[in-house]
Amino acid sequence: MSPSVPRPLPTHDDVEFWEATRRGEFRLQRCSDCSRWRHYPRPACPDCYSREYSWDEVSGRGRIYTWTVVRGPTLPVFQERVPLVVADVLLDEGVHFQAELLDCTPEEVRADLPVEATLTELDDEFTLVKFRPANR
Ligand SMILES: [Zn+2]
Repeated sequence: MSPSVPRPLPTHDDVEFWEATRRGEFRLQRCSDCSRWRHYPRPACPDCYSREYSWDEVSGRGRIYTWTVVRGPTLPVFQERVPLVVADVLLDEGVHFQAELLDCTPEEVRADLPVEATLTELDDEFTLVKFRPANR
């Protein structure tokens, strides 16, 4: 039996995020009162404490804020995929989002590198947000 990739465990706060990515949409929470974007998903705005929010589509564009290079696989299933770059991306909307950076070697990644989101199907139920260098 081959090892399997760990799957997300949606919670009450992020189930709409996973439903959106499955439809091919990258959506994050946005406060209905002060318009601030936020991620990770949570029930109240960290700025104005409002509990009113919507799930709005983000541009998917941003820049590398920081990153790490995974060289030792955390699970056997990742053995063939290391080294891989996991980036903290500062989205144009002002929100940080952490995900794998595709099509970029550890030697090529740098701070402020423009990137764009790409949705990658994990299986029939889950689609992951990842990033790749943007041409802009
Ligand atoms: Zn707010």
